[in-house]
Amino acid sequence: MMARKERTGECVMCGECCKKTRVTAVLSNIVSQHGSLKEAEAYYSLHGIKIMDVDEAGDRALLEIDMQCSKLAPDNSCLLNGTPEKKPLICHKYPWFEDDIETCGYTFVAKTGY
Ligand code: SF4
Ligand code: SF4
Repeated sequence: MMARKERTGECVMCGECCKKTRVTAVLSNIVSQHGSLKEAEAYYSLHGIKIMDVDEAGDRALLEIDMQCSKLAPDNSCLLNGTPEKKPLICHKYPWFEDDIETCGYTFVAKTGY
């Protein structure tokens, strides 16, 4: 049985989660469009897109695009902080899983009790 984890820590405003755009795509669509994953990688790399993770069983690929959010201010604050209703849901919830951003102030620890 997998241990349940809970989030701890706080945002240290490193801004890293807003500096790139991540998209989950359908793996079989990518392979069908480009002929192979290798061909897709070659094409994507010319456009600043990286294939970060491939989940063959789930038919998913995680793409990372080198494109910063237009609402990230120079001090790493979010220009939508004053209007939270305009902020995308994913921004309110982030991070809700363990990510690979080393500078993030949040960590996930095993949950104790029931
Ligand atoms: S809207 Fe704000 S929190 Fe969301 S990605 Fe952009 S800068 Fe970051
Ligand atoms: S990566 Fe973590 S610490 Fe950095 S801005 Fe995003 S939520 Fe905050």
